[in-house]
Amino acid sequence: MNNQLVDPFGRRITYLRLSVTDRCDFRCTYCMSEDMVFAPREQILSLEELYAVADTFIDLGVKRIRITGGEPLVRKNLLSLLTRLGQRAELEDLSITTNGSQLAEMAGALQAAGVQRLNISIDSLQRERFSALTRRDKLEQVLEGIEVARAAGFAKIKLNTVVQKGCNDDEVIDLVDFAIARDLDISFIEEMPLGNISSHQREQTFCSSDEVRARIEQRHDLVRSSKLTGGPSRYWQVVGSNTQVGFISPHSHNFCGDCNRVRVTAEGKLVLCLGHENALDLKGLIRAHPGDSQRLRDALMNALQLKPERHHFQSDEQVQVVRFMSMTGG
Ligand code: SAM
Ligand code: SF4
Repeated sequence: MNNQLVDPFGRRITYLRLSVTDRCDFRCTYCMSEDMVFAPREQILSLEELYAVADTFIDLGVKRIRITGGEPLVRKNLLSLLTRLGQRAELEDLSITTNGSQLAEMAGALQAAGVQRLNISIDSLQRERFSALTRRDKLEQVLEGIEVARAAGFAKIKLNTVVQKGCNDDEVIDLVDFAIARDLDISFIEEMPLGNISSHQREQTFCSSDEVRARIEQRHDLVRSSKLTGGPSRYWQVVGSNTQVGFISPHSHNFCGDCNRVRVTAEGKLVLCLGHENALDLKGLIRAHPGDSQRLRDALMNALQLKPERHHFQSDEQVQVVRFMSMTGG
């Protein structure tokens, strides 16, 4: 039986981003509006349904799963899902993207459940700026969470920073130095036009990865790393350190040719490309046919035939995709 997920452009899907909630304890200005309306709880996949989706993807050859949100650590009983996934020998990599606010309490349990790698988002090391960006005064908790996570023994911890001109672009070197001092990796992300936001005009704050790299090179020597993820990141080694710096550049560098990933939202929508509105409703299918893994499998195989060749983000257009990143899972 054909048990591979291969799209019409020959790309094999081995990576799933699974969103476990659309809720969050932060309201980052580029991600959410202050008055977000979240999906009713019954519209969100149960932990059992999330496992069924992940299980089918694993059967179809997915080797890496990243749990995301919203903020995944606000999902009740998330550890039970992670523990089940952590026991799947076929999975080579189980990771989480988090805002870090609850890591001080949860990092040890996440590691014990089988999570190997953490991505922790941090856009500023300055308290007031952090509060303005996230609309929450929680920098101290995040910094503590990073320290507890470092001690917990994860294979890899990477920081994620969305860079906005005139907002935090002057902190790029401070953030790299912060990462170097702690043996962490760090990725800088270009803001993507996902969702209608009220706080700023995205095109005015756009800061390209090339600009960010040039800033870092004023202080540090960078050497191109051979690491490839099948995603939009390109990595550079900071010479004389254990730190790699990644640049996630949906605008300025097209990364679609070797895309190996799909996403499932907390509401059970299969999103084949972050830059397109197309999505398949897996929740309806799972609820109409509970336990029918063959049907789910067939639906995934068929859906993959619709994966677009590339996204069409343009930095000079306000909104192209109405979905917020917190809905899709970053
Ligand atoms: N709450 C978790 C966090 O913040 O890490 C996980 C979900 S969040 C949606 C995942 C990542 O997406 C974060 O690193 C966040 O900074 C990034 N993100 C959110 N909205 C974005 C946007 N419009 N453009 C680029 N990155 C965005
Ligand atoms: Fe929450 Fe993450 Fe979005 Fe910030 S980026 S609002 S932490 S989901």
